[in-house]
Amino acid sequence: MTLSISKLTNALDHAVDWFIPASIVADKDLRKQARLFLISHLLGPFIGNTVPLALYLFDPQPSWDIAVLSASITGFWIFPLVLRAIGHYHTLALLSIQNLMFCILWSCYFYGGVTSPTLPWVLTIPLLAFFYIDDSVKLRYAVLLMFALNSIGFGLISYYLPAPEHGIPQAAMQGLGIVSTMAAAAYVAMMAVYYARALASQAELEAVVRHQRTTAQHLRIATLEAERASKAKAEFLAKMSHELRTPLNAVIGYSQMLLEEAEETGDFEDVPDIERIHAAGVHLLRLVNSVLDLSKIEAGHMELFVETFSLRSVVDAVIEDVRPHAEQNGNRLSVSFDPSIPTIRGDQMKTQAVIGNVVRNASKYTHGGTVELVCSPSTLPTGAAVRIEVRDTGIGIDGKDLPHIFERFTVVDDETSSKYGGTGIGLALTRELCRMMGGSIQVASTLGKGSTFTIMLPLEIAAEKNGAADAASGETERLTETGRPNDIIETRLKVA
Ligand code: ADP
Repeated sequence: MTLSISKLTNALDHAVDWFIPASIVADKDLRKQARLFLISHLLGPFIGNTVPLALYLFDPQPSWDIAVLSASITGFWIFPLVLRAIGHYHTLALLSIQNLMFCILWSCYFYGGVTSPTLPWVLTIPLLAFFYIDDSVKLRYAVLLMFALNSIGFGLISYYLPAPEHGIPQAAMQGLGIVSTMAAAAYVAMMAVYYARALASQAELEAVVRHQRTTAQHLRIATLEAERASKAKAEFLAKMSHELRTPLNAVIGYSQMLLEEAEETGDFEDVPDIERIHAAGVHLLRLVNSVLDLSKIEAGHMELFVETFSLRSVVDAVIEDVRPHAEQNGNRLSVSFDPSIPTIRGDQMKTQAVIGNVVRNASKYTHGGTVELVCSPSTLPTGAAVRIEVRDTGIGIDGKDLPHIFERFTVVDDETSSKYGGTGIGLALTRELCRMMGGSIQVASTLGKGSTFTIMLPLEIAAEKNGAADAASGETERLTETGRPNDIIETRLKVA
């Protein structure tokens, strides 16, 4: 039952809203008034027409005045249509109040004058004025004036031109009084209920808006705080990394010196220990550099140094660097390089870092297997490219972990990371660097069988196509990363 009532009221709301023109929809207060106006005009004639119906039934000789009354009451249905067609809400509201006054005074004139049973309807006039025009003082005065003029007109006409005698018996007049008063009460009750409902839903809406405003405010504060925290974190990392690099360089430098000295003096007793210190220092420095690079990229401060270089020499340098580690793990390291790959215009150091990270991982996560590096020409949507595949027969990666391995600080599981070591920075940085250079990195892997990482790098970094750099002159371009993936090169500075 409650469901069908709410369905009915929803349908009514829908119907009411259909009549509201676009010019009113945007004005919250006016829309509220228009809704009350419409509900009164859509339902009012049903209630109002009970009076002419009763007159018709009670009057032994019903005459044309009943038809005029009914036509005027039914005429209220035209108002919603006119409102939808042309707007002008306030003019229509005044015309409607005028029509109501006419209906009331017309029935009073023909049926009993000031003692007419239809007189209680007068009470609905101020009520409707309140609903339709709300707090507009000017319009309230207009209604008052209209009421005064109508009353005077009614008085004069009744006095000078008395209405013809009707033949309704006294008992029927009392019945008419009951019908009329009940209809007026029903009408007032209907308007009051709708008004209370409108008020309640408005209060509800306002509460929701207030809640949303507060939530938005909280969100803004939280975003600001997060941004501040992220900036502070990036600054802290950059500072810490910088501070750490100085002593680390000393450790690496001195251990290198000690190794050279040992070679010269032939005193090899401490060499294994010094080599361990040296390797640990290099590892730590690489880690610190990765952290620094990541925070630089995050802050949009990473730069590309564009120069012409041979990919072959980069690959050789990587292999030379990784070979001892690969051999230590019992891995066979092989390289297949397509000689048709031309020289590259790009960032040599970053290309080396990218390939180095992936090959180092391959040799780290493979024991007694093979690590194969295959370089071949290829294409990217932006133009000619080189494809670098790093295949290993190592531990492989579980399918569920694959989507996450390029995320920062992701290590597949605690067991793997404690067995092989690792911080989850390498691949995140590698992906960022690839993106910066206009390339990409992808992985395919089978757990227990091995992985293949595919790096795609353009032969020329995108901005290079603008033709500013002269490869032969040996100039280096510095391109600043903006922090946006795949759209990285914003400014370019030439440095000697
Ligand atoms: P980490 O310093 O831990 O190696 P990376 O970002 O380089 O960090 O790698 C993230 C994770 O991806 C690693 O912890 C490892 O679990 C997995 N992974 C990366 N390369 C390989 C590979 N060649 N074979 C198996 N797992 C790999």
